[in-house]
Amino acid sequence: MRPSITQPRDTAPLLAILGRAGYRLTEPRRLLATLIAEQTGHFTAADLARSARAGEIAVGRATIFRTLELLGELEAIERIDLPTGEHAYVLCEPVHHHHAVCTECHRTVDVVDAELHAAIREAARRAGFTADAHRVELYGRCAECAGRTATSGAGRDVPGAAAS
Ligand SMILES: [Zn+2]
Ligand SMILES: [Zn+2]
Ligand SMILES: [Zn+2]
Repeated sequence: MRPSITQPRDTAPLLAILGRAGYRLTEPRRLLATLIAEQTGHFTAADLARSARAGEIAVGRATIFRTLELLGELEAIERIDLPTGEHAYVLCEPVHHHHAVCTECHRTVDVVDAELHAAIREAARRAGFTADAHRVELYGRCAECAGRTATSGAGRDVPGAAAS
């Protein structure tokens, strides 16, 4: 397993997927592809709206939501669920894999692991279940952020459970 950091920079693959599916490459779609390609790691619709405002790019929220949905359906981007319950997206290869999401810097690392799939199959089998699909997302800190925390010696926040 060789995890790679997702740092897309090129709009061509996104536009190619839209074109192949028969969608016109309208100005808003091109602009959004540019915004998406500029994101590092995962991004939300709100992140794109913020980038659009910062770059004085005229795409409205409705267009952003619609286009994200469309790109998700076409598997040009992949939806991930954040621990906060928010939905975010990552731009990556349309092959089955998993994501390890850094909750500090929002970088997303692709994770592919055959042993994980064997374990999932076995767990399903034991439950007498035939699984057609699965989602596994990991949350925590990437190597860089974990290293920073270790060297700065910062303590971890442990929320106290208030018993009543
Ligand atoms: Zn990925
Ligand atoms: Zn999997
Ligand atoms: Zn990180």
